[in-house]
Amino acid sequence: MLNWSIRAKQHLLKAGSKLIRYKNPTLIEGKGSVGQLAVQMQKWNLQHVFIVTDERLLELRLLDSLLSSLQEAGIRYTIFDQVQQNPTIENVEAARKMYIENKCDSIIAFGGGSPMDCAKIAAARVSNPEIAITKMKGYFKVRKKIPPLYAVPTTAGTGSEATIAAVITDPARQEKFAISDVKLTPKIAVLDPELTIGLPPHITAATGMDVLTHAIESFIGVFSTPYTEDLSKKAVRIVFQHLEHVYHNGEDIKAREEMLRASYYAGMAFTRASIGYVHAIAHQFGGLYHIPHGLANAIVLPYILEYYGETIEEELAELAIAAEIHEASESSAALAVKFIKRIKQMNKQMNIPNIVSSLKEEDIPLIAQRALMEANHSYPVPKIMNKKDCEMIIKKMLPN
Ligand SMILES: [Zn+2]
Repeated sequence: MLNWSIRAKQHLLKAGSKLIRYKNPTLIEGKGSVGQLAVQMQKWNLQHVFIVTDERLLELRLLDSLLSSLQEAGIRYTIFDQVQQNPTIENVEAARKMYIENKCDSIIAFGGGSPMDCAKIAAARVSNPEIAITKMKGYFKVRKKIPPLYAVPTTAGTGSEATIAAVITDPARQEKFAISDVKLTPKIAVLDPELTIGLPPHITAATGMDVLTHAIESFIGVFSTPYTEDLSKKAVRIVFQHLEHVYHNGEDIKAREEMLRASYYAGMAFTRASIGYVHAIAHQFGGLYHIPHGLANAIVLPYILEYYGETIEEELAELAIAAEIHEASESSAALAVKFIKRIKQMNKQMNIPNIVSSLKEEDIPLIAQRALMEANHSYPVPKIMNKKDCEMIIKKMLPN
C-alpha cells in the first residue's frame, strides 16, 4: 500500500472514531474493594451471575472474597473456569452454552486478558444468537446490547476492563481477530490491588510494560486527543514511578493499586486512540513463538521508538516531563533520548531481554509482512514504515 493511501485511510478512521460514543465503566477501587461489587449488583436486582475465569485463579483461591460477598448478597453464581490462554471460538461457545443452561442474568470477567476476552464475546453471543462470532469481526457488529458485564482484572496490564475490544482465535483459519463495539465496555471495573499481590515478578514486569506500551502508542499516534493524551501521561508517570519498585516489592499494596490505575488509564487511552507498530510486531511474536504479549511489547518498544526518531521527539519529551525524569535545561531531543534510555534500563532491571531468543532469521520477511499488514490497515502510526525498515528492525532482535 502506498503511504498516501494509508494516510487517507487513517483520516477516514479518525473521522469515524470521533463519532463513537465511548462510555467509561464505573470504578470500584481500593484494597478489598471486590467485596463491594455484589452490593452494587444487588441494587440492580440481579439473581444469578455467570463468572468467567481460569482454573489457576480458582486454585489460588483468588475468587474467595468475591464468592462469599455474592452469597451474602443472596446472588447465585455459576463459574466457568475453562478459559484458555488465548480463547478460541469453541471456548467462548462453551461459556455461552453454560450461561444459557443456568439461566444467568449477568457476567463477571475475573482474571487477566483471556477471561476478559472470553466473557465479552460470550456476552455478545448470549444476546445476539443469530450472529456468528466470525461475523462480529471488526467494528460495531454486536447488534443487541449485552447482559450486565463486570470486569475484575487480576493483572495490571491489558486494560481490557476499560476497552471496547475483545480478541479471539479462530483455529480453523489460524487467525486471531478483534471484535470492537462500545457495547462490550464493562459496566463496572473493580480495581482491587489485593488480587494482584501474588503475581510473580516476571508477570508484573511484562504486564506493566504492556501498560507502558498502550500509553505510549496511543500518545504518539495521530488519533490522540487532549483527553487521551492526559490519560497516557498519567499512565506513563505511574509506570515510571512504580513498576520497577513493585517488581522488587510485590507486596506493596499502594504501588499495586497505582499500577492497576495506570492499566485502566492506558486502557481508556488506547481504546480511543489505538496502538501501533510495537503491538503489530509483538502480535506476530505471540502468534509464531508464543511469546507472552507484554514481554513481546517490552522487547519491541525501544526499537520502534528509536526508528521513529525525530518524528516523535516532541511527544517523547512531553512524556519524559510527565514521568518527571527531566531537568529544566534539557532540549526536546535530549529528553526523547533520555526517555528511551530509561525504558531500556527498566527492561534490564526487570530481566527483560533485548532480543527474542526463538526468533529465526528466515521468519523475518513473514513477520514484517504480517506486522505491516496489521498496522498499515488500522493503526494511526506517526510515521509509516516500509517492509525493508521493518525487517531491519526485527533483525536487531535476533539472538546473538
Ligand atoms: Zn497490549
